[in-house]
Amino acid sequence: MNGEQDFALVVDEWFDGEQRHGAATLRVADGRLVGTHAGDQGAALAAQGLAVQRGAFLMPGLVDAHVHLFLDGRSTDPAARSAHLKQPVDVLTEAARASARQALACGVTLVRDAGDRHGINHRVRDEARDAAAGLARVRSGGLGIKRARRYGAFMATDVDDADSIRRSVAELARASDEIKIILTGIIDFDAGAVTDEPQFDAAAAGVAVQAAHEAGRKVMAHCSGEKGLRVAVAAGVDTIEHGFFMSRDILLQMRDRDLAWTPTFCPVHFQWAEPQAAGWSAQTVGHLRRILDAHAAQLHAAHALGVRLLLGTDAGSMGVAHGGAVFDEIDRYLEAGLPMAAVLQAATAAARRHFDAAHATLRPGAPFDALMLARSPFADARALRGARRVWLQGHEVTAAATP
Ligand SMILES: [Zn+2]
Repeated sequence: MNGEQDFALVVDEWFDGEQRHGAATLRVADGRLVGTHAGDQGAALAAQGLAVQRGAFLMPGLVDAHVHLFLDGRSTDPAARSAHLKQPVDVLTEAARASARQALACGVTLVRDAGDRHGINHRVRDEARDAAAGLARVRSGGLGIKRARRYGAFMATDVDDADSIRRSVAELARASDEIKIILTGIIDFDAGAVTDEPQFDAAAAGVAVQAAHEAGRKVMAHCSGEKGLRVAVAAGVDTIEHGFFMSRDILLQMRDRDLAWTPTFCPVHFQWAEPQAAGWSAQTVGHLRRILDAHAAQLHAAHALGVRLLLGTDAGSMGVAHGGAVFDEIDRYLEAGLPMAAVLQAATAAARRHFDAAHATLRPGAPFDALMLARSPFADARALRGARRVWLQGHEVTAAATP
């Protein structure tokens, strides 16, 4: 037992990742939550010599389900961004560590990295297993798969026929926590659409999914646009990442097949909010607004239909900062009309459940990865950006405020 990590927290209100609770006393020992009791038991525990601390609102550490750790989202100069990618691997690895540190300081205790071709994020994942490293935990997608001469070279390797897909996926599954498949390119903002054909048809994508599942890995599909979404659903991937140009028909199929969605508003919202960064015309800004509004309407429909929702920011993309972007993405979910409980669930327990975590919610036995706020976000959403305390496996880390 590590006595320094044994303490009690008396809180006015808390959220376990799925349910809201009133005033309670939570006991933490050896890095884990060991007990929860209704009401204020602080005096009795203090009399037993236990350190007792108080706070307004406690919740599980946030999960950003879609990040690119070695990219720095605060950089908005396209030339600087492409120069960054050409730096040596040790420089990119240090950038990834800085991102994981920044995420943790904002209360994001777990990130899912959506891919890299250098193995950087596997390395940071391994380093982050030691809570004393001060890094957010990492679920690492590693190298994805794509078609030759198509989008995604910075995060994926080329595959060809069914045999090569099977071989690549089996090989990648040894070190990667998930298999990422690049189904489509990115949105052509000037055209206001996804203009390329999907990289894989449903049969080829299905080969990748089957190989991944045989190796015990889930599949995340980078995918936007009607054609790509149809391929993703038919192939039976486990999450659709981005999923712009979603439709109700696709959402119904996703619900029926328990396929999760990570809508990643942040990078598109940045392009709309600061069009000068990419030099967009007024017409393109109009496209961006239309795309964001449709995305919000589909997110609302997804929630109403009961589609499993994760919350991911695509941090590392232009204008999308690690850690802080989670609060922007939360704002997009709230603007779309989702209730706070659903939003916080998407940002905590839903992701842990999807990742098959041993403890999806903050219940006795769970590692104490948690966030304390000075006010309840159920009373005022702005509380999420305010003063906070963050714990990783019972260790308090130095928290940062978020603008
Ligand atoms: Zn991404």
